[in-house]
Amino acid sequence: MERPDAIFVGAELEDNLSTRTLAAAVRAAGRTAATERFDGAADAARVAGRIAARDPALVGLSMAFQHRADEFVGLATALRALGYRGHICAGGHVATVMPETVLAAEPIDTVLGHEGEEGIVALLRALDDRAAWPAIPALGWRGDDGAVRVNPPAPARRDLDAFPLPVREGTLRRHLGLPFVPLWGSRGCYGACRFCAISTFHRLRPGPRLRFRSPESIAAEMATLYHDHGARIFCFHDETMFLPRPARTRERLDAIAAGLRARGVGRIAVVGKARPDGIEPGLLGHLRESLGLMRLYVGIENWSAAGLEHLGRGVTAEQNARALEACRAEGVYGCYNLLIFEPDTTLEDLEDNLRGMERFPDIPVNFCRAEAYAGTPLWHDLRRAGRLRTEGFATDYTLSDPKARLVFRMVREAFRDRNFAADGLANMTMSFGYERQLLRHFLPAGERGLAELVREVDALILEINADTRDKLARILRFARSPAAADPAAVAATTFELATEINVGGAALQERLIDLRREMNLLAERSGAWREVLAPAPGR
Ligand code: SF4
Repeated sequence: MERPDAIFVGAELEDNLSTRTLAAAVRAAGRTAATERFDGAADAARVAGRIAARDPALVGLSMAFQHRADEFVGLATALRALGYRGHICAGGHVATVMPETVLAAEPIDTVLGHEGEEGIVALLRALDDRAAWPAIPALGWRGDDGAVRVNPPAPARRDLDAFPLPVREGTLRRHLGLPFVPLWGSRGCYGACRFCAISTFHRLRPGPRLRFRSPESIAAEMATLYHDHGARIFCFHDETMFLPRPARTRERLDAIAAGLRARGVGRIAVVGKARPDGIEPGLLGHLRESLGLMRLYVGIENWSAAGLEHLGRGVTAEQNARALEACRAEGVYGCYNLLIFEPDTTLEDLEDNLRGMERFPDIPVNFCRAEAYAGTPLWHDLRRAGRLRTEGFATDYTLSDPKARLVFRMVREAFRDRNFAADGLANMTMSFGYERQLLRHFLPAGERGLAELVREVDALILEINADTRDKLARILRFARSPAAADPAAVAATTFELATEINVGGAALQERLIDLRREMNLLAERSGAWREVLAPAPGR
């Protein structure tokens, strides 16, 4: 088996752009690199075995999520137990904001904060030369005295086109049979949300908060992915694909569309994310036509004025509503998450959120709590107020309002399987709506069976959303009732609701799976679908 210089390890819910970009940077420097998938603690022994067998000079751990940080430490420990003596470096958000906590783990040699493309190459060249480490920006390590040293980061590079593009190996995932590929066209965000780990990551170094690749560079990469890898669905993982001024968004995305046409790219679907304040009437419909925009994750986050303010969203509930109305009116599938719980949520705020969900009964939504990610303004506020609890990588807080706290506890229990599992009904419903939109996007309106199937899917989404709102409403009503003061009544009601949500959810899920099967069959037998998949003429 080939012995690469570096192996980068990370989650692979989709193709991991971080590990692939670092592998590309190492290869561009004339060294060898590979990537390895690591999706959970249960995989640690197997992944460690695979890496140890290849014995790379460096293992890079992509520690993007605090809730998974211990699993990566476990992986490093498993590697050492197998006798791996190479260098283990942790990167990503966690390593950037919690270097001391990461380096408390003996098996990990260094952390590399911020963007790692240049630092990882410098580190690879200096693995045995610790005297060179102080010159590597954002590198952290334990000194001979045991104290952690972390070099200051370099300013953020503006010339993103100069960064190597992620390596693309193996076959692409498929959605309804169409190859799907994630990519990035910018880094950072113009928002300043108080809970946001991403904007914190970009704020902690000198330089602009938002940087862009050029439209030409993006179009060239997409054309390669289209022609050489068969990609038909392009998912932009930019924090915001849209700019603060809609006219600039139109100009930039039109330039990408023109670049695609010039390179012979046929019909595609584009998925992106946007803040509500970046959307104006007419923009989405235009981008649907020009670029193939078909799905937009809209950052709604909260429907209550107080919640939006506490989260630092910088938008109003009406702006939220206008953004979703634009999606609906202009044929782009909008979907969103809500952070209905934040440290100072009240029962009234939760009721506002329920009303917001009622206003868009056709749009799949998931809801949860704003977590206090390390280094974020929310985390600092809670810490200053003495409300933050930390243990290792974990951070936690208690909601200040007793009634909201009760609702949070009940929601966490009752909705655990539906809302918080990756394959729970809430996430499945979002994917379900997305697949329906893919059919609408690529098939002619008159395609046999399409209209009827879409009607059935729409009806089931309405039913699932109504069921979710009904259960949430019952919890809110219970919290206002005298019974809420009785712990036994709380436990009994929570148990009853959890049972209803899970049993009812299983039945809804079965119907959803049946309809997904029908959508797949419709795509499979459609001539129009095969045309989308066909190579461009002359290729
Ligand atoms: S809009 Fe999204 S990415 Fe930007 S700061 Fe807010 S939460 Fe973060």
